[in-house]
Parts: sequence; C-alpha cells; structure tokens
Amino acid sequence: MSRYFSSRFSGLTPYVPGEQPQDQQYIKLNTNESPYPPSPAAVEWATAHTRSLNLYSDPECRELREALGQSLGVEPDQIMVTNGSDEVLNFAFMAFCDNENPAVFPDITYGFYPVFAQVNRVPYVEIPLKEDFTVDTDALCAAEGTIFLANPNAPTGILLGLDEIARMAASRPDRVVVVDEAYIDFGGESALKLLDRYDNLLITRTFSKLRALAGGRLGYGVGSPALMQDLNTLRYSTNPYNVNSMTLSMGLAILRDKETVLHNRDSIIRVREETEAELKKRGFLVLPSSTNFVFARTPAMDGASLYQALKAKGVLVRHFTPERIRDFNRITIGTREQMQAFFRVLDEILGGRS
Ligand SMILES: *Cc1c(COP(=O)(O)O)cnc(C)c1O
Repeated sequence: MSRYFSSRFSGLTPYVPGEQPQDQQYIKLNTNESPYPPSPAAVEWATAHTRSLNLYSDPECRELREALGQSLGVEPDQIMVTNGSDEVLNFAFMAFCDNENPAVFPDITYGFYPVFAQVNRVPYVEIPLKEDFTVDTDALCAAEGTIFLANPNAPTGILLGLDEIARMAASRPDRVVVVDEAYIDFGGESALKLLDRYDNLLITRTFSKLRALAGGRLGYGVGSPALMQDLNTLRYSTNPYNVNSMTLSMGLAILRDKETVLHNRDSIIRVREETEAELKKRGFLVLPSSTNFVFARTPAMDGASLYQALKAKGVLVRHFTPERIRDFNRITIGTREQMQAFFRVLDEILGGRS
C-alpha cells in the first residue's frame, strides 16, 4: 500500500478471481466458462465493428436492449446493459444499500458480494445456509436489508424454486431483492415472470457462462423502469461507455443464434449428469446441480489436497477455504473429452492412495 491510498479503503480485501494461468496448458475446469467458442457469427460481427472503433459505443445500448427485450418479453426500459454482470451487481450495492439498508446474502455464495459491500462501504449480514446447503428463505425474509441471492447458488449449484423468490420479494416490499441469474440457463426457472407482480425485483444476467462470452464482458440487469433509472444514474456518473461496441455487436449476434446456445446447453447438461454419476460411483458426495459445474467432496482426501493433486497433473478446479466447504471442490463441466481426461487423472490420484 502506498502512503497515498485513501484510508477509506485500507481494510479492503479484494475479490480473488479464479486462476487464469498463462504458463502451461491446463484442463481448465475452475472458472465456469463455456468449453465451447462463442457463436461464429459473434466473431464475424465483432470484426465488422472494428471499422467504427474511432467512435464511442452507444451509451444507451439501444439495439441490444431492444433485442434482449424481445427475447425476454420485457420492455427495453426495463433493461440496463453492463460490462459483465459484476458491474450491474456493483451498481446495485451502490444504489440500494446504505447504513439503514444493509446487504443481506447467504454465508456461502458468490465471493464478490462481501467485496462489493466493502468497496461501497455498506454493512452486510450473512445468513447461514441450512445444513443441506440450501438457502434459508425464512431467515432471509426475516432479515432487514437488500437481499442478494444467486439463483442457482454458487458454488453449491443448488436451485431455489420461484415460489421462494416470490416470498422474499413479498416479505418487505420496501426493499430490493436482487436475483443473480448467472447460471439460470442450466436448469432453473427465471424470476423474470415475477417482474409483473414485484417492482422491487432486480434480476442480473450474464453472457459469460452459457453464451460463451466471458472474455467479451457482457451482462445486464432487468427490473422496473424506476430501478433502471437509479442504476443508470450511477452508470452515467461512472462510465457511460461501459460496454465496448465490439462486445455489443457480439451480444446481438449471440442472441440471434439461438440454435448454438441451445445445443451447447443440452451438451453441458448431459455431460453434467454423466459427471455426477461418475463421481458418485467413486464415492463422492455431489450436491444437486442446476448449473454448469458440480460441487463435490470425497471421503478419501481433503479438498485442498485433491485440488493440489489435480493441479500437479494439469487439471484446474476451484477450491474454497471457508470452514463449511473446504472439503469440497467446484468442478466446471467441460466437454465430454475434458471430463474423461479429468476422470483419468482423478483415478490416478485416488488409485494411488488405496
Ligand atoms: C460468473 C458469475 C457472475 C458474473 O460474471 P460476469 O462475467 O461479470 O458477468 C455473477 N454472479 C455469479 C454467481 C457468477 O458465478
């Protein structure tokens, strides 16, 4: 830390992203990216746009909002487009939390939430997941403050039903409930259909997972026009050109290419089911996943040792250190070939121990 760093941030612990190693080729199952390239049309459209890079991108992202609105069944003024969904989440902490409205989220969830709370200097309350790692809806409803809920949750992969989300939105109409739907495409029902009933719902989405555009950085929020206005006030006060024009055009191309997206979704779900079965055959406990990853532990060794042993053999998964989950590893679902390679390595490790 330099002596110039503001004391406001001296206690801040930044988010630690999953490893993106550049030194060697790993089988990379650690950051929930798509194992498939983005739609070929996306790459073509992005290239076509390099010619107009002398101009700023459209700060209103009008074309993409119109296309998104059509595909989601909402009005364009219910959508705000951002540089990944992390950005809209940060704006939500900024906009809807303060000393009277602390952020409220489960103790085991997306690791960025406590960081967003800290950087925006708002208090936060962590509600423990239940024994079976499901979300404690009653406790969230009873807590005062702005709820942030990843659904399905990460890193557990567990989906919460829509009636539970509705219960949270109804519990206190004077607070915002943010539903982070980064993984909703892999088996869940979206809270979009609740928007007509609850004007305190904010849904965040990303192109980083199923839509294979993690490196393009594209996300968005959906909610009432009034909520969007608040978020836009902050966006225009921070970075009106937050999404670059190549990424905007890639988003449009991906939206049109529904076939590739559905095909990839079906493949990932199929390989996820195979992976769950193979892990269980080897004695793993696997939490029920509605995502593109599985969260699993083996009685044969602790989570950190398994993570290290896999890494030493060229397979990257994600390990987390909090007490309750440190025997688990989060394994992204790759292609069938990648998962076969994962199991070959896993069997070497586990076989060597028995
Ligand atoms: C990946 C992820 C995000 C955000 O990803 P972006 O790349 O910023 O869109 C948000 N929430 C959860 C739970 C995630 O796993």
